[in-house]
Formats: sequence, structure tokens, C-alpha cells
Amino acid sequence: MARMPGAVWRPVRNYTPHGRTEQRGLVLHVQAGNNSPYGWFDDEESEASSDFWVSKSGRIEQYVDTGNDRAWAQGAGNRAYASVETEGHPDEPLTPEQIEGVARIYAWGAGLWAWPLQVIDSTTERGLTFHGAGGAAWGGHPDCPGEIRKAQRGAILARAAELLGAPAQPTPPAVPSYPSWPGRYISLRSPYMRGDDVRQWQQRMRARGWSIDVDGIFGPQSAGVAHAFQSEKGLDTDSIIGPATWAAAWTAPLT
Ligand SMILES: [Zn+2]
Repeated sequence: MARMPGAVWRPVRNYTPHGRTEQRGLVLHVQAGNNSPYGWFDDEESEASSDFWVSKSGRIEQYVDTGNDRAWAQGAGNRAYASVETEGHPDEPLTPEQIEGVARIYAWGAGLWAWPLQVIDSTTERGLTFHGAGGAAWGGHPDCPGEIRKAQRGAILARAAELLGAPAQPTPPAVPSYPSWPGRYISLRSPYMRGDDVRQWQQRMRARGWSIDVDGIFGPQSAGVAHAFQSEKGLDTDSIIGPATWAAAWTAPLT
């Protein structure tokens, strides 16, 4: 159960039980309207909801149990990110009270799930992103929340950092970290595993100087490179791309 202290708890019908499988951060939205969306989110016909809404006066409403359940705000992004709707229209900046409200939500998530104090324009990284970043897969809302509110994310995180008593990271992050492990173990199997994650790893290994085809298919050649790389770096030589082997592809020194 994850209900935010200080938010008004108003559970709605529209959500997927136990549908939140990751906690990467928060997605900023604009309501493109005024007044609480509670009725809309509680109406099954709308097929819409969000974790939170912040009014222009700073009132915070929470509609979905952010720790367990999946709100319906941003298509494929609902599984891994919480969502906050903000009252008003894209051509209106967030009010100071709204910045405070969203910052309080973010500080709460940072405390519970270590959301980093980082502005991102991404659908895979951890931090504070925005709805339009997800393109068609996130429902195709390129203008949500609009340029003005997008640009206020730094102010939101600066305030969240104050609330947490921690220094904010500069925006964009100073040191781009390596891409996060895709979440599945890549191994030699029949049929061969394939995908963008395989291709990304192959590209990285080729950039490191390994002789490897970048075809997105994990066949015997890729498994051989994985084994040799693991052996060189003192990793378990199982030829499987798990979190450690994935990370080492970006972080281990070139030899
Ligand atoms: Zn939106």
C-alpha cells in the first residue's frame, strides 16, 4: 500500500490491480482542463486515470495505490512510472503551489523507491519525465504537458531536493550512466533469442573491439564473445548476459 501522506485519497474504478511492476519515476502531465478529474477517472467509460492530480492551489489528490496498482495515464508507460496530472492548460505555467505539490509527490517517491532527482526525456531511465516523451506507445500525446511545464521540471526537483535535504543533480545529468539492464537474461537457446537489447549489447561489444555481428540475434558467436569477455573480466563464465555482464560491457575498463 503506498498512499502519500498529505494527499487526499480518492480511489477510482479505473486501474489495473497489481499492475505496477517497476518504480522508475514520475511522468508529468497537463490536465488540459480545470477542476478535479476524479469523476472522469471513476467513470469506466473514460478508461483513464492517474496516480495523482495537483490543483492550481496545491491540493493533491491520489486516485490509485501507487505501490501496487497501475493507473491508466500513459499507455505502455503505466507499468513502470507513476503519473501526475496538473490542473490547467499547456500554455499556462504551473503555479508555485503546483510546483510545491508535485515536488512533494516526487520527494515521497524518492524516499520510498529512490527515484533519482533527475530530469529525463526518456521512457527507460529513472527520474522525472513527461508524457509526450513516450510517443505513440504512450498514447500519442506530444503536447502533454507542453514546453512551459516541461521546462519547470528542474524547479520541481530543486524543491524536492530541499524537501529531502539533498543537493539536486544538475540537469541534464552530468555523467550519463550506462543503459539499464533490459530485465531478461540473454542466453544461447533454441530458437535464438533476439531483440533490441541483444543488438544494443552486440553494438557495445563491437565498439569495445570484439569481432561480433550486430544483428540482434544471440547465436553461438555472441555466446562465445560473452564467454570470452566474462573470462577476461573475472565474471562468472556462463555465457549469459545478466545484470553484471551487461553492466561490465559499459563500465569495465577496455583492455
Ligand atoms: Zn498526459
